[in-house]
Amino acid sequence: MEKTDSIGGLYGFRPGKPSWSLRVLFDHRPDLDDPLYIAIHFLASNTTFLPKYLCFLISSGFMNKKQPTWMWNAIDWIFPPHCLGCGLEGEIICSECYASIKRVPVNVCPYCNAYVSTSGHCPSCANRRPPYAQFRAFAFYGGVIREAVHHLKYQNDIGVARVLAGYLLKVIQAENWDFDLVIPVPLSKTKQEQRGYNQAERLARPVADTLKKPISTEGLRRIRENASQVDLDENSRRENVKGVFEADPAIVKGKRILLIDDVFTTGATLESASGALKDARSGLVYAVTVGKSDFNAN
Ligand SMILES: [Zn+2]
Ligand SMILES: [Zn+2]
Repeated sequence: MEKTDSIGGLYGFRPGKPSWSLRVLFDHRPDLDDPLYIAIHFLASNTTFLPKYLCFLISSGFMNKKQPTWMWNAIDWIFPPHCLGCGLEGEIICSECYASIKRVPVNVCPYCNAYVSTSGHCPSCANRRPPYAQFRAFAFYGGVIREAVHHLKYQNDIGVARVLAGYLLKVIQAENWDFDLVIPVPLSKTKQEQRGYNQAERLARPVADTLKKPISTEGLRRIRENASQVDLDENSRRENVKGVFEADPAIVKGKRILLIDDVFTTGATLESASGALKDARSGLVYAVTVGKSDFNAN
């Protein structure tokens, strides 16, 4: 198991050990780039000077930009993270919990990652080609992966984002996809303002940095909010996300795109997003997610 960069202890996000003051502040002001938040955070932080200084340094400047590995290592050293699966100190996902992850096998449907008896499309994708060229998830959604995605989405845990981005890189490199531009599946403006960040962007930035590819958060926009997908069946989900995205031809035209999201449920979101990219004359679209949920098993 490789050593993963992490910042799990920062902002009191260590599982089971939340710092009360930071927790409260965080819940009310999730925008970590906000100078007022940083100032309050800095004063309220009950850690010693050095970690406080590091917190300040990181949050004030370059939350979404590339940070050098030594910095993450330094923070890990000061604030050892705890495993999201078992609580063991040292890594965000320890080697034992990593070994328990249910990886998506090689011979699956290239559009939805369903099991197929021989290599080829699954019956439901055979007569219905999605707009993306290929889709691949790192693992089935469950166990420590579910926990990690939850942290990524709702706890603003950038350490987790970097670990999961590392998992996405394994998939992307194994597939050997050739692409020109990385695009995270966007949230609507309202949702992003509420959450303070886009979890897909948190995954996409380290991927783009590592592969030295440009990333665009402007090339694809979510122009309206779709209703919650939770209680919908597959067809209703597809209907629900129709026309939700719009792509900018000035940015995506002729470009092969790597589309990144956190979880694939029915593929309706990826289909709609890649459909919008194709409408704007993009080249091939490849899609990758951390988790693939077994929709029928939910
Ligand atoms: Zn563990
Ligand atoms: Zn399929």
